[in-house]
Amino acid sequence: MTRVKSLQAGAVIGIVGGGQLGRMLALAAFPLGYKVRIFEPESHCPASLVTPFHTCANYEDDKALIEFAKSCDVVTFEFENIPLGAAALIEKHAQLFPSSKALELTQDRLVEKEFIRSLGLKVAPYRSVHNFEELNYAISKIGPKGILKARMLGYDGKGQALVNGQGDAASAWQEIAAKPAVFEALVEFEFETSAIIARGQNGQVLHFPNSQNFHKGGILRKSIVPAPMSEQQFIEAQNIAHTVAEALKYVGVMAVELFVTKSGLVVNEIAPRVHNSGHWTIEGCKTSQFAAHIHAICGLSLGDASLCANAIEMDNLLGDEILNAHELLAEPNIYAHIYGKEEVRRGRKMGHVTRLKNEPLC
Ligand code: AMP
Repeated sequence: MTRVKSLQAGAVIGIVGGGQLGRMLALAAFPLGYKVRIFEPESHCPASLVTPFHTCANYEDDKALIEFAKSCDVVTFEFENIPLGAAALIEKHAQLFPSSKALELTQDRLVEKEFIRSLGLKVAPYRSVHNFEELNYAISKIGPKGILKARMLGYDGKGQALVNGQGDAASAWQEIAAKPAVFEALVEFEFETSAIIARGQNGQVLHFPNSQNFHKGGILRKSIVPAPMSEQQFIEAQNIAHTVAEALKYVGVMAVELFVTKSGLVVNEIAPRVHNSGHWTIEGCKTSQFAAHIHAICGLSLGDASLCANAIEMDNLLGDEILNAHELLAEPNIYAHIYGKEEVRRGRKMGHVTRLKNEPLC
């Protein structure tokens, strides 16, 4: 493996996006002596509460983007919907990990699916849809049960509409505001999992244990570890993540969301960042997904993803569920993470709790 020059303590890590993922990345960077600068248009964001360095500007502000990039030794991002122009500008003036190529391939669901398929991996049958007629045609070809997903800017089930027969086409088309979309078949899965992988600048990889993920209304509610998968399924999940990471020459942590079906694993989507279904790794693994990402982008050895407990459960705290978070601490082996968002909104990710359910191993 080629040797990589690692960043010394005191170096500045730039994080584009100041939400909870940026905050948890920053918290993982501090023990290594790094400073963190956030680029985030909102002034009161979760990450700005943990670091004094915050470039509060819009993604269209080229001058601010250039100054931000020049003030950082390495830049990363916490979400994939950064305008590509902004990412390219940062990449011109700083080392950006993962690269803007990973963003380009994951921002548009159609491009993403074609990329996944080009790697020989399985996705749900789909068709590209630009207008209502094409949606009707797609339903007639794919089958009556499916999901219409806007190609751009969708997350946590947003920009999606469930279709249960041709009769739903008009309302679904309206629901996604008549935007370019993909119509994909509803996958009959046994359960959902995600393959989380870290890849270093020298090609070293670290696989995190798989969790079983439970969604409601498109939003992750709970992850449990270990996932009820056979050895063969674990290996298949790791191979899929490895194939994608290698194809992108990816640096950092990436999650591949998977449907486990009777006939094998089907890729739902790729998240080119740390992932909600990996939050349990903070207490549940010797090296968390956040620490592994910081290690990867700073040229350090990736760490150790071995488990610290026999059974782990992570619950998202959505909306006003956050109000009970401190009471949950009465249980043994429970850890709360409250993101510091000022406004409590229905369905908004406000925090999470992780339970180490059996005897901790480390
Ligand atoms: P996404 O925004 O694509 O990650 O979708 C959010 C959630 O919706 C997934 O985690 C699944 O629970 C569900 N979902 C998305 N696409 C499909 C599909 N083709 N078949 C069944 N469930 C799906």
